[in-house]
Amino acid sequence: MDRVVLIYRYKLKVKTIIWDIDDVLNDLMKSWFENIWLPSNPGCRLSYKNLTSNPPNELLNLQKEDYFKLLDEYRNSNKANNMKPDEKVIKWFEKYGENFRHIALTARPTHTVSAVAEWVLCYFGKWIRTISFIPSGRPNIYMPTYDKGKVEYLKWFGKADFFIDDKTEDIEGAKKLGIKSYLVAQPWNNGKLTLPMILDLLTKNE
Ligand SMILES: [Mg+2]
Repeated sequence: MDRVVLIYRYKLKVKTIIWDIDDVLNDLMKSWFENIWLPSNPGCRLSYKNLTSNPPNELLNLQKEDYFKLLDEYRNSNKANNMKPDEKVIKWFEKYGENFRHIALTARPTHTVSAVAEWVLCYFGKWIRTISFIPSGRPNIYMPTYDKGKVEYLKWFGKADFFIDDKTEDIEGAKKLGIKSYLVAQPWNNGKLTLPMILDLLTKNE
């Protein structure tokens, strides 16, 4: 058979993974909590594993707006830009990345998206060629609404085969759309699998 036809047929079968960024490809919350919050609040007796809700503002005795202001500042900081992805995840991309198409899908306030887009392209740009976002609401900022959340985006997009995220509601919603979805374990969810464990499963079941 013609080589071009073979390549075309192969590409038709390539499946698409939709990746959450914060607390999946990066460790934003852990990094913020341990690098910013704990040093500036030495009386805080919590550790990262105690952050059993997200946002954790009530656990930290903060108003939601104040918590988001701190987190958004961190999102745009050099420290956040210097976060390193998990080596095991990079190794997975190097070995299996080209067998899939990849889209990053983040829910963030718009003024923090360019920083994380740069971060994703720096570490994963060989494979992740599309970065999408759902603007998170912030006071006094109007953004047009195309999708109310990630699940609506996934429904509109219509080509996702796999979805990886740390938010239980989005995972449940994606499952209802028929997308094979994996919840990454974090203190605020009941996930049991780390991202490297999920990638192992995904590769075996692809
Ligand atoms: Mg996330």
